[in-house]
Amino acid sequence: MGFNKKLQNCTRCPELVANRTNVVIGVGAIPCDILFLGEAPGKQEDEEGIPFIGASGQLLRAIVQMLKIDINTCHILNVLKCRPPHNRDPRASEIMNCREYLEHQIKVIKPKVIVAMGKYAQAFVCKKPASAMRVMKNVGKTVDYEGIKAIMTFHPSYLSRDQRPEIERAFRMHLKKAKKIAREKTE
Ligand code: URA
Repeated sequence: MGFNKKLQNCTRCPELVANRTNVVIGVGAIPCDILFLGEAPGKQEDEEGIPFIGASGQLLRAIVQMLKIDINTCHILNVLKCRPPHNRDPRASEIMNCREYLEHQIKVIKPKVIVAMGKYAQAFVCKKPASAMRVMKNVGKTVDYEGIKAIMTFHPSYLSRDQRPEIERAFRMHLKKAKKIAREKTE
């Protein structure tokens, strides 16, 4: 069975399977320059099967465009491929069930740099449990994920909740850093 079919037929997390409309596999270029890594599909993503198309996705895409990052050279993935009911937090067991899929995707996609947005994406690239992550402490830091630089930043939904200009400014700075790393790796 091909990878996408395997994901679409995945039954590892019974509660997610019972509630999902679509498995949100991911979208974007292969290979890619920047991989944007989020948490899990929301309502709209679940309905359409495409990551980051709801409110936080629109914000992310607007900032990407503002920074003149070509979205067609990027890829967008989530730590979980299925929407947790009522957008509850992903559970440790669900993250573990889905980890193998994401690891495989990153091997295939070969990003030049990863932007890990929010606690769950940060935990993934640090290979630590989400419960151990101190998101604010990690924001702006770069770690090595399997030989790929991963910049840790806020989840775009946090930008809508905390409207202080310095938060969005910092997020933009992290994306600019990712753009620079991708460019350096192209030259
Ligand atoms: N939030 C995420 O983390 N991922 C999405 O795809 C949408 C919202």
